Amino acid sequence: MGAYWLSDQMKKLKIPIKHNPVDIGVRVELPQIIMDEVTRINWDPKFHIITKTYDDFIRTFCVCNRGFVVEEVYDDFMGVNGHSMREKTSENTNFAFLVRVELTEPIENTSDYAFSIATIANTLGGGKPLLQRLGDLRKGRRSTWRRLKRSNVVPTFDSVTPGDIAMALPHRLVVDIIEGLESLDKVIPGIASDSTLLYAPEIKLYAMRVEMNHGMKTKIEGLYAAGDGAGVSRGIVGAAATGIIAARDILRNV
Ligand SMILES: Cc1cc2nc3c(=O)[nH]c(=O)nc-3n(C[C@H](O)[C@H](O)[C@H](O)COP(=O)(O)OP(=O)(O)OC[C@H]3O[C@@H](n4cnc5c(N)ncnc54)[C@H](O)[C@@H]3O)c2cc1C
Repeated sequence: MGAYWLSDQMKKLKIPIKHNPVDIGVRVELPQIIMDEVTRINWDPKFHIITKTYDDFIRTFCVCNRGFVVEEVYDDFMGVNGHSMREKTSENTNFAFLVRVELTEPIENTSDYAFSIATIANTLGGGKPLLQRLGDLRKGRRSTWRRLKRSNVVPTFDSVTPGDIAMALPHRLVVDIIEGLESLDKVIPGIASDSTLLYAPEIKLYAMRVEMNHGMKTKIEGLYAAGDGAGVSRGIVGAAATGIIAARDILRNV
C-alpha cells in the first residue's frame, strides 16, 4: 500500500510522522424514502455531530443512495462497507456512522485498537459481521433472523450474524452511535426508528500523518505531501483540496 511506502520514506528522511485517529462504528441501513429529501439535494451528505454523553465526534460517511451493504475483507477480520450501482438499485440507503477515536498514551497505535474491536465483533459473529436492529440494541437484546424478518427493512447484505453490537463495541461507542442517530433523527425523521439496521464492525483506518506546515510542505525544502497517503485527508474532496493547497504553496515559492 502506498501509505506504508510513504511512511517508510518519511522515516528514512527523518521527517516526523504520527498516528492518526481511527474511525470505528457501524454501517446504517434504512428505507431509501427516509433519506430521499436529503440525498436528492446532496448525493453524499456529511453530518458532523458531537455526542451528548461523551462529547465525542461522530459523522456520516459514504452515503450509498439506493445502495447495497457489502463485506470488506481485511487480512485478519471481516468488516462492512457500502456501494451504489448505476444500473442495479435497492429499496434502501446505507451509510457509515463513525466515531473518531484518538489515543495518546501509553499507546498511540489506533489501528491496533480498531483491530482488537473488529476481532471481538467477528468472534461473536462466527467470522461474519454482526447485524442488529437499532430497536434491539436500545432494548438490550440481540437481533435474530426471526425478529429481522418481522421488520420492515430488508437487509441488502445477508452474509451476517444477527447479534448484539453492545457485546462487541465498547460502551462509549455504542452510546455515541445511539445518541448520534437520535440527533440525526431531528433532521431526518425516521432515521432512528427501531427497524433501522446496524452492521458492525465498520472501520476506517488512516495513514500516519506526515508533519508539515499549512502549505503542505515538509521540513525538507521543496518536498510536499498531500492526500490520504500522507494522512492529511479522509475522502475524495479533502484529498483534492490538499493537492490544491500544496500547488498554491509551490506557486508562491517559485
Ligand atoms: C472502497 C472505497 C470507498 C470509498 N468511498 C468514499 C466515499 O464515498 N466518499 C469519499 O469522499 N471518499 C471515499 N473513499 C476514499 C477516497 O477514495 C480517497 O479519500 C481518495 O481517493 C484519496 O485520494 P488520494 O489522491 O489521496 O489517493 P489515491 O486516490 O489512493 O491516489 C494515490 C495514487 O498514488 C499511486 N501510488 C501509490 N504508490 C505509488 C508509488 N510508490 N509511486 C507512484 N504512484 C504510487 C496509486 O496507484 C494511486 O493512483 C473510498 C475509498 C475506498 C477504498
